[in-house]
Amino acid sequence: MPPSPPTVLLNQRQIAQRIEEMAQELAPQLTEEPVVVGLLKGAFVFTADLVRALSALGVKPLVDFLWVASYGQATTSPGVLQWHMEGHQPLQGRQVLLLDDILDSGNTLKRVTDSLKEKGVSHLLTAVMLDKPSRRSVPIQADCVGFCIPDGFVVGYGMDHGERHRQLPFIGLLEP
Ligand code: 5GP
Ligand code: MG
Repeated sequence: MPPSPPTVLLNQRQIAQRIEEMAQELAPQLTEEPVVVGLLKGAFVFTADLVRALSALGVKPLVDFLWVASYGQATTSPGVLQWHMEGHQPLQGRQVLLLDDILDSGNTLKRVTDSLKEKGVSHLLTAVMLDKPSRRSVPIQADCVGFCIPDGFVVGYGMDHGERHRQLPFIGLLEP
C-alpha cells in the first residue's frame, strides 16, 4: 500500500499571515543590515519568505546558509550534528538572525548558536517556524516562534521525509 499523503496542519494562508507577524516582531530588534543565516535544508523556504517580509519593513539582510544534519531519531547516537557546509559571510561583530524549520530536542539550535557565538557574533537572535516544546531535551528557546505544535512528524514548507514533500506549500502531518 502506498504511504498516505500528509494531512494539512497549517495552510498557506495561515503561514503567510504568521510570516508577516514574525517580520513585524523581529524588524524592530534588527539593525538595518543583519546577517540572516538559514539552516539547510529544512529552513530554505522559511528563510526565503521571512527575508522578503523583512525587506518590506526596510531591513536589508545579508543572507547565508549553514548545512547541518542531526541524527537524533533513528540512525546514529542522539545529538550528533554533522556539518555539511559552513557559511561564507564574516560574522565577527555582526548581528545574526538564525533561522531553523523546527525546534525539536533543541540539540541543533544549541550546537549552532554555541558555534556562532564562538565566531564572535555580536548579537544573536533565533527564529523557528515550528516549535515542539514537548520534545525538548536541551533547555533552549527561540526568540521568535511561528507556531507551537504537538508532537508528530511534519513535512512541507521546506521540510522532508526522506527528501520528499519539501515542495509542498503547506505544513502537513504524516501518519505514523
Ligand atoms: P533538534 O536538533 O531540535 O532535535 O531537531 C531539529 C531538526 O530535526 C530540525 O531542524 C528538523 O530538520 C528535524 N526535525 C525535527 N522534527 C521534525 C519533523 O517533524 N519533521 C521534519 N521533516 N524534520 C524534523
Ligand atoms: Mg533541520
